[in-house]
Amino acid sequence: MIAQFLTLKAEAPDCLLFFRMGDFYELFFEDAVAAAATLDIALTKRGEHDGVPIPMCGVPVHAADNYLARLIKGGHRVAIAEQVEDPAVARARPGKSIVARAITRVVTPGTLTEAGLLEPKRANWLAAIAPGPQTGLAWCDLSTGAFATRACTPDEATAELARLAPAELIAPEGWKDSPATPRPLPEFSAQKGEARLKSRFAVVTLDGFGAFTPSEIAAAGALLAYVEATAKGSIPLLSPPRPELPGSTMAIDAATRTSLELTRGPGGTRAGSLEACIDRTVTAAGARQLGADLAAPLTDAPQIAARLDLVAWFCENAVTRIRTREALAAMPDIARALGRLAVGRWTPRDLAQMRDGLALSLALKAALSAPSLTTPTLLTDTLARFGAHGSLVEALRRALVPEPPHDPGAGGSIAPGYDAALDALRETARDGRTAVLGLETRLREQTGVAALKIRHNGVLGYHIEVAARFADPLMAADSGLIHRQTLAGVVRFGSVDLAALASTIAQAGDHALAAEAAHLEELRSLILAEAAAIAETAQALARLDVASALADLAATENWSRPKVDATTAFHIESGRHPVVEAAVKAARNPFVANDCDLSADARLWLVTGPNMAGKSTFLRQNALIAVLAQAGSFVPARAAHIGVVDRLFSRVGAADDLAQGRSTFMVEMVETAAILSGATSCSLVILDEVGRGTSTYDGLAIAWAVLEAVHDDLQCRCLFATHYHELVQLKERLKSLATAHVTAREWKGDLVFLHEVKPGAADKSYGLAVARLAGVPAPVLTRARGVLARLEANRDKTGGLAAGLSDLPLFGAHPAEPATDPLRAKLAAIDPDAITPREALDLLADLKALM
Ligand code: ADP
Repeated sequence: MIAQFLTLKAEAPDCLLFFRMGDFYELFFEDAVAAAATLDIALTKRGEHDGVPIPMCGVPVHAADNYLARLIKGGHRVAIAEQVEDPAVARARPGKSIVARAITRVVTPGTLTEAGLLEPKRANWLAAIAPGPQTGLAWCDLSTGAFATRACTPDEATAELARLAPAELIAPEGWKDSPATPRPLPEFSAQKGEARLKSRFAVVTLDGFGAFTPSEIAAAGALLAYVEATAKGSIPLLSPPRPELPGSTMAIDAATRTSLELTRGPGGTRAGSLEACIDRTVTAAGARQLGADLAAPLTDAPQIAARLDLVAWFCENAVTRIRTREALAAMPDIARALGRLAVGRWTPRDLAQMRDGLALSLALKAALSAPSLTTPTLLTDTLARFGAHGSLVEALRRALVPEPPHDPGAGGSIAPGYDAALDALRETARDGRTAVLGLETRLREQTGVAALKIRHNGVLGYHIEVAARFADPLMAADSGLIHRQTLAGVVRFGSVDLAALASTIAQAGDHALAAEAAHLEELRSLILAEAAAIAETAQALARLDVASALADLAATENWSRPKVDATTAFHIESGRHPVVEAAVKAARNPFVANDCDLSADARLWLVTGPNMAGKSTFLRQNALIAVLAQAGSFVPARAAHIGVVDRLFSRVGAADDLAQGRSTFMVEMVETAAILSGATSCSLVILDEVGRGTSTYDGLAIAWAVLEAVHDDLQCRCLFATHYHELVQLKERLKSLATAHVTAREWKGDLVFLHEVKPGAADKSYGLAVARLAGVPAPVLTRARGVLARLEANRDKTGGLAAGLSDLPLFGAHPAEPATDPLRAKLAAIDPDAITPREALDLLADLKALM
């Protein structure tokens, strides 16, 4: 057996091998050690190999999904070796008695289809990259069959992968060190890929699916090869590939996605993201579609308008909206049920889900098709995508009981009256069971033991049971009973009559199960014959869910329809940040709405204001409004006019993370460089405190130069938040630069944030007031006030940041304080730009000791 194990293991060296033995999957050797650690289950030993005991652990087959999920999450791949013949056959074979096993499936993060292993609200992308100057990407979701490709530059590929966040990426062996699954280079040949795709989709040319570049074909071919290799013969659901046109969606790079928290919140999960905040969908497929829409906002104004028309229609027709959402809420996830049926890992429940889901979809289509003059085009188009599944639904209805069991081996899935032969078999089994009851009564009379029972269990089958104290007379040869087992309190017997009945019941039961299995398989084929149409229906349903959910949001949260066109306008009236607004309102505070107008003579806004005033919130809310509008949603604003944004960039200065030192500044600069080379005049750029990750002079100089470049070269719409008030002077030279500030007031010595964005620069930075809020000790604040006064007095003279520093006495500057104060002296001697974070910490401890 170990020899068989080792042979199979050699076929899947990079996987843990699940070796089927009866009701368990067993793992051996290093696999067992690794799995036991990840799963926290007992590691045992069995037998010896080369004189060393073999480590072993096992998981029960019926609970395997749960263990698989944890192993996959733990970064493992799992190959499943099943018994591929009846053990009885193996036993009957002369000499060789080991049952044949083969790997029937390789489970990897990107090839999952089981409901228990997938997140219902997220697509589970498997992606392939064919690297090169012209990079090819292909991605598919085997749980729903979606399949798309794209040709792009290497940089764009990185951004695309950030958008998809694939569960698994495959790449040619030797491709740069990334967590991709390596595959042999020849699988990435465009020629082979084309042949593979043609044969998979049974076409003579791929032209019917769209225009592909060789790099896209290479990636798609490699993807298909991998899918086939892991599925080992079963055929997962896969729609024909759909090429995505370059520029058809808003380009958003990885850093921007992270900073705007579009689909992943601060913790890296859905929680706290824009997606989670606005998601009112009622189906898992709808939630997946919303996530996809938000991750890839459109750039074509008419297409955006079509989506907005549908949302508007659901806004206006509240009753239809509510009914539609009720109908959708009752809908099973037919896309994923279809995925399971296609790949062959399904239960009778999936058939019932298909029956109910398709029936509901037909009813919904009929309800929404009521003729009306105002029906938006996208609704008509979406309804046209619904398949005509009437006869399939009818077939499923006739064949299945209302609620079939989960376990296909349990029987009872096929409705009575569907198949006369099956009914007869069931009747035979039922009659047999009645006859057993009759036999029981007769035996009680014959033996005089009133408590005699006929029972059934897995080991003995049907048997007669009496309490031990009545057993003796029954042991006699003439009792007609055959002794089978004596336990503590009971004795069990068999009889010739009972054996005959048992065999009739068992045979009828087996035949009935076989008949049911054949019917179920037939129903599955009926469904798969319509797979493409069903996948289309599922997508249409998801579209309706997204539109009606966005309408529900717009209607209840007071959002409005944006105007999106091919200009470079950007005019938001009373805009809000949906995520911050929800948080602020949860704390029972009002959210302050703000305008933003980046029209031609004020394309670039320089936003100043104290920390915590709301600069970041203001910047981000405008970026989010653009994303929402182009994804086809209403927006959290009184009105919005947005010229299509082709690329969106958002960067946040990295000063907050002292511990990471200069490397974060480096990252910040690399990302800023990406903006300067990537943005066009149709882009929207959000820069939040760029340059603050370094010393004041460097930071100011960099911020200054970046501002000039954005203004003069890129000429794009830009919001730039900074605490360098010196930058305000640029207003004189840069004609499209406008200044704005987020308001705060000092009131009775405290700082009150008003969160209102007003024209003009902030009158002062309130840095000292913020420091006070943060608990900086009074003597330090006093000294800081003195330094500030001096700096500001001299600033007007020279206009420079440090102009006032040269004549600033280091000690005893403040007449009210004695010059001999050791704390003060120590503080004055510190040069903040010349010390490391570590030294700063030590100094802080010293300073405290002086108090
Ligand atoms: P800054 O970038 O200026 O440091 P933030 O944008 O991070 O400030 O905002 C700080 C906090 O102020 C937010 O977490 C939020 O609680 C609150 N806030 C910001 N903008 C608003 C607003 N427009 N209305 C109400 N509260 C706001």
